[in-house]
Amino acid sequence: MSSVLVILESKNDHVTRISLEALAAAATLAETLGLRLNAALVGAPTDLVFNTIQGKAPHTVYAVQHEKLHAYTSDGYTEACAQLIQSTKPAYVVFPHTYQVRDFAPRLATRFGQVLISDVTGIEPGPAFTRQLFQGKLNSTWRATAFGEGNPCFLSVQAGAFRADLHIPGETILETFEPSLDTLAIRTTPGEPFRAAAQTVDLASAPILVSVGRGIKEQANLPIVEELAAALGAELAASRPICDAGWLPMERQVGSSGQTVAPKLYIAIGISGAIQHLVGMKGSQCIVAINKDENAPIFEVANYGIVGDLFDIVPALTTALNARAR
Ligand SMILES: Cc1cc2nc3c(=O)[nH]c(=O)nc-3n(C[C@H](O)[C@H](O)[C@H](O)COP(=O)(O)OP(=O)(O)OC[C@H]3O[C@@H](n4cnc5c(N)ncnc54)[C@H](O)[C@@H]3O)c2cc1C
Repeated sequence: MSSVLVILESKNDHVTRISLEALAAAATLAETLGLRLNAALVGAPTDLVFNTIQGKAPHTVYAVQHEKLHAYTSDGYTEACAQLIQSTKPAYVVFPHTYQVRDFAPRLATRFGQVLISDVTGIEPGPAFTRQLFQGKLNSTWRATAFGEGNPCFLSVQAGAFRADLHIPGETILETFEPSLDTLAIRTTPGEPFRAAAQTVDLASAPILVSVGRGIKEQANLPIVEELAAALGAELAASRPICDAGWLPMERQVGSSGQTVAPKLYIAIGISGAIQHLVGMKGSQCIVAINKDENAPIFEVANYGIVGDLFDIVPALTTALNARAR
């Protein structure tokens, strides 16, 4: 029976959240097309890892095992996954869109004469895959042609685009797959895995966040938002470009490569609302967006939107709040 194969990642004995989202996307695809859903874990997956996906939809989970796969290398993972695909002949291969996947999946797809349809945020009948363009201002629809069993369509799904809590009961079969890897063909020696610095600011527990984006224009203007945060008793957060520029520390970044937050109130100031930012804050109870572009995607998730110049609106808000406090 033709299948959808989802390649999962694990960390600390758990399948990662974005992998569960990829599993949910793959399950939707399999259900729509009447295909079997299978999953694979590459490396040295433990029983604990399997327990976290047991009964979450896949028919078979392949444990892809080889001593050369204990640490990630692009060469090893490409070859191992290629052999698994040749052996199991799925029609679709689905990945979570992680840094690791970005490293090896395009190469894997090329092996089969295919491209990777990356950063998918939705699956429509057909199937057609939605991808965002121009920082989320436009959606594009992609369809794969010239693919099939053993020569699959490859796609990766964006963090936060699919619900991770999908639960389809059913028995999952566990199978070991041992690829034959030529150790000489693995040309890289893995170093220590990257570990993010310990975070001293816990944005996740702050009830109010005032979050600033590139609309603030320069670091010298930050006191405008700092004063609003002080008036509200809020923590200061930011979009990625602000932290990348070193205007605020990395630990204040919200989004797919920063912290995930769900405060009572999230005020997004001069933030466009790119998907990578939205996935980190769209669970907030109340979102207020201040942006001079009425078409900014942030307004799609905002409960209250203020269209205008932040340099007028933010100081006026601070003055009003301080006046009430007196
Ligand atoms: C792999 C990857 C991971 C990423 N991870 C993250 C992440 O974790 N977090 C994150 O935030 N981003 C992340 N990004 C970046 C993300 O794609 C966007 O580029 C980023 O979120 C944009 O930040 P911004 O909204 O501050 O800036 P912009 O997109 O430049 O938006 C600035 C906004 O300010 C508005 N504006 C300008 N002037 C004014 C004014 N005077 N008054 C009011 N409004 C004004 C504009 O209309 C615009 O909407 C990631 C990207 C990649 C590829």
